[in-house]
Amino acid sequence: MRPEILYPLFAPLTVLPGVGPKLAPLVERLVEGPHVVDLLWHLPSGMIDRRFSPPLTEVPEGRVCTFVVRVLEHHSGFGPRSPTRVVCGDGSGGRLHLVYFHLKRGFIEKILPIGATRVVSGKVEFSSYNEPQIVHPDHVGPPEDLEGLQRVEPVYPMTAGVQPRVLGKAMLGALGRVPVLPEWLDPALKARHGWTDWDAALRTAHAPEDDEDLSAMAPARMRLAYDELLANQLALLLVRQSQRRLSGRALTGDGRLRDTVLAALPFALTGAQARSLEEIYADMAEPTRMLRLLQGDVGSGKTVVALLAMLNAVETGAQAAMMAPTEILARQHLATLEPLARAAGVRIGLLTGRDKGKAREALLAELAAGFIDIVVGTHALFSEDVAFKDLGMAVIDEQHRFGVHQRLQLAAKGRAPDVLVMTATPIPRTLTLTLYGDMDVSRLDEKPPGRKPVQTRTVSTSRLDEIVGAVDRAVQGGAKVYWVCPLVEESEVSDMAAAEERWAHLREHFGDRVGLVHGKMKPADKDRVMEAFAGDGLDVLVATTVIEVGVNVPEATVMIIEHAERFGLAQLHQLRGRIGRGDQASTCLLLFAEPVSETARARLTIMKDTEDGFRIAEEDLRLRGGGEVLGTRQSGLPEFKLADLAVHGELLAIARDDARLIVDRDPDLQGDRGKALRVLLYLFERDEGVKTLRSG
Ligand code: ADP
Ligand code: MG
Repeated sequence: MRPEILYPLFAPLTVLPGVGPKLAPLVERLVEGPHVVDLLWHLPSGMIDRRFSPPLTEVPEGRVCTFVVRVLEHHSGFGPRSPTRVVCGDGSGGRLHLVYFHLKRGFIEKILPIGATRVVSGKVEFSSYNEPQIVHPDHVGPPEDLEGLQRVEPVYPMTAGVQPRVLGKAMLGALGRVPVLPEWLDPALKARHGWTDWDAALRTAHAPEDDEDLSAMAPARMRLAYDELLANQLALLLVRQSQRRLSGRALTGDGRLRDTVLAALPFALTGAQARSLEEIYADMAEPTRMLRLLQGDVGSGKTVVALLAMLNAVETGAQAAMMAPTEILARQHLATLEPLARAAGVRIGLLTGRDKGKAREALLAELAAGFIDIVVGTHALFSEDVAFKDLGMAVIDEQHRFGVHQRLQLAAKGRAPDVLVMTATPIPRTLTLTLYGDMDVSRLDEKPPGRKPVQTRTVSTSRLDEIVGAVDRAVQGGAKVYWVCPLVEESEVSDMAAAEERWAHLREHFGDRVGLVHGKMKPADKDRVMEAFAGDGLDVLVATTVIEVGVNVPEATVMIIEHAERFGLAQLHQLRGRIGRGDQASTCLLLFAEPVSETARARLTIMKDTEDGFRIAEEDLRLRGGGEVLGTRQSGLPEFKLADLAVHGELLAIARDDARLIVDRDPDLQGDRGKALRVLLYLFERDEGVKTLRSG
């Protein structure tokens, strides 16, 4: 339940002056939210200083000025396109021309009648007669407007269809609704940074007076960013606390299944795998529940770690579940796990959205009866009718596709099962905190031995024929090739190479040896194509990013990525991780189409330079500081409205410590500061944090 004090901020945008039902959707899209508060989070990106009011005889060129003038003459041109000029004067003897194109004469006579005194504001230029003029003044009004106008006016990031003046008016309305909120900041921290109260900080952030005020390091903006980060960290810690409170169970297997599997593996565990497993086993042995993130680059060997962790649970007589974000991945996990599980006498099953009817019922019955030890599946595992005899351990693969809520949902299916989340997205440490602040982290920072590095080159799309020739030669030499296209049938980006078109084109060269897989295909068709590619059926696989996550075809050694300039770094890295998995040398060609933005170029260069996922992630964050939206959206990383992690990383670390202290001292947020912090959580819509609290 949202506290009443926040109601004015969570009113719909239409309560604001000038925002009607027509405009509201546009503003909503601009500020990415339907509430007044979302508008308030939309901070100025620039400003116009309207305080300068020189006499007309001393006006400099090119500056925004505000004048009080008398209207002297109207001159309308003869041709339909010639402008109307309004000549004005002030006491100095100077003249000012106001120039209007395409305006009805009547209108000008109404707003600027001859003999009237008017306040006008706008950017001054000099006419060919060398007299100051303003073309379409920003503001024309009665003399009493002067005081309100002579200030620094914030300029907001805009969108088509919303007039700056309308947005400015709505913003004033929104600022007028800002309540005084109880202070949730630690007084010492607030004093140390010289921060003001929240409402004052918000007003200051909306009233920049110089360039420094617009910087992310301005105290007002820092405070707002900190508030957002604190809300984020506190919510995560509260969720974690609530998970811990549901007392877990101590799981310590006797090692018989794990020993069998380890003996059957054709390799020894890497140091990082062994270390991570120690951490996982230690968590599982505790009577509290495990909530651990296993972070490892593509190919770092997470699957084996997950299997051994699940076997630890199965050895105690409990069941384990492993959840993948896609059907293909679930099947692939099953294919990897099944032979090993069978060697150890472990019963394993698969449950996806495709399983229906009798087969599904039979599987559910087996699960409920405990005849299945490990079940691999997709989000179908969340279905209400899925029941376990005794779920002791859940592995969730590729977490960023699932939310905190879903994590809780699966966990609710057992008697407080231990949860291991796996992600192949290498995340900078600062971001690990914001995404997974509620979890302990194990890192697989060492790859299995024997991997050959992937050669990465960037090539212009204009050399497509050469590239097809090179792919042909590689195929002759026995290579398997991924050919990745960004999107299918996206009309608004019709210049983008559609996978279907590319497939048709490549068929002219490779005939039946080239296949196509994309997100809109039926799962069964997808699987058939993937299987053909993994087997002998296909040499070239044209794919959209459905292959992004997890797919394992070790024989694939070539990857072509079209329009690589449109992908984010994290995604390019994931894609490239599909090759270089076997012992053969591999090549990745990043195709780009001009023009390439500077940021995109920097991304491609990083991809050429390194395969280290953690380094790529750090660079990604740094580049995204430049604010390239495509990269951000595709990377699947959290977006903050006020905080910019490329700049505010240090604040995040402080927020993290702050949140820990809060949860230690006042775990249910009952004290005065605790109550204020509840308001903070609601303010940033981190309600899931509040819901975990015991009362109040
Ligand atoms: P991830 O899921 O982290 O992307 P996988 O678990 O799919 O990686 O492992 C990638 C490949 O490496 C698989 O073929 C796996 O059998 C192999 N592998 C895993 N661990 C080792 C190891 N310690 N030594 C050699 N190969 C390994
Ligand atoms: Mg994997």
